[in-house]
Amino acid sequence: MFELIKLGKNTYYIDCPSKVGVYVYNKNDAMLIDSENDEDSARKILRILKENNLNLKMIVNTHSHADHIGGNGFLQKRTNCKIYAPEIEEAFVNNTILESSLMYSAKPFLKLQNKYFKAKESNAEKIDVKNLPDGVEIISLKGHSPNHVGIKTPDDVIFIGDSLISVETLEKYHIAYLFDAKEYLNTLKMLENLKASCFVPSHAEASSDIKRLVKLNIDKAYEIIDKILDMLKEEKTQEEIIQKIILDYNLKQSLNQYIIVKTTIKAYLSYLCDEGIIDFCFKDGKMYWLKVN
Ligand SMILES: [Zn+2]
Repeated sequence: MFELIKLGKNTYYIDCPSKVGVYVYNKNDAMLIDSENDEDSARKILRILKENNLNLKMIVNTHSHADHIGGNGFLQKRTNCKIYAPEIEEAFVNNTILESSLMYSAKPFLKLQNKYFKAKESNAEKIDVKNLPDGVEIISLKGHSPNHVGIKTPDDVIFIGDSLISVETLEKYHIAYLFDAKEYLNTLKMLENLKASCFVPSHAEASSDIKRLVKLNIDKAYEIIDKILDMLKEEKTQEEIIQKIILDYNLKQSLNQYIIVKTTIKAYLSYLCDEGIIDFCFKDGKMYWLKVN
């Protein structure tokens, strides 16, 4: 853990729970892709950069989840580096209360403002390819979060953040968090045909071939959609749908797990409603969802 692994002439990643990309340019300058989850990890990242005589100039965040931006604040304080994040995500990086607010859809209670949903704040600017090293490209990978991006280096390496979930996570948790199911499915279809020397998902092995992993992610998304539609042959409340998903997949019943499942199921319900496949009604003070015949 926390080792620098070479992927191309100037492209590396730091092996840690949320892989951090490193692109070296101008001989000794470094651009990081994401910054891990907290100050402790950021210290280790900075130590690796120093050991390799690299000066941190900028961090590009693929998206604003706490395990990808948690090291921003410490690294910026120590090095005065720039931080760039995609539009919308940038607002979340600068105001980290927004993440748990989005998950809860009101002011989150303090126990929900934990390190999984609320990172330390940093000062981010909107990403613009003009500010990135020559040849670095931004690829839109929306769905997992509102404006998730991938970063492609001139070594033909693409850091794809959380747009793909590992086999192990899919088998253990089944529900991969997402914000927008339609965009997520579009992104997966795009990834299926995307070519690169190497893809680096944040929580799965780096690989030149992600086709199988993309297919597993697509299959799991449709498995969940089918499960929801099967349930909605009869009207169900949102809470009943969540309950069945948690019990069917035998998921841990904890605050973090519940909030992730709840938000993700709501994303699928929005998608199915917008596609005209399900609709809602009210009865006895409860909101029900039901498949449209
Ligand atoms: Zn994420």
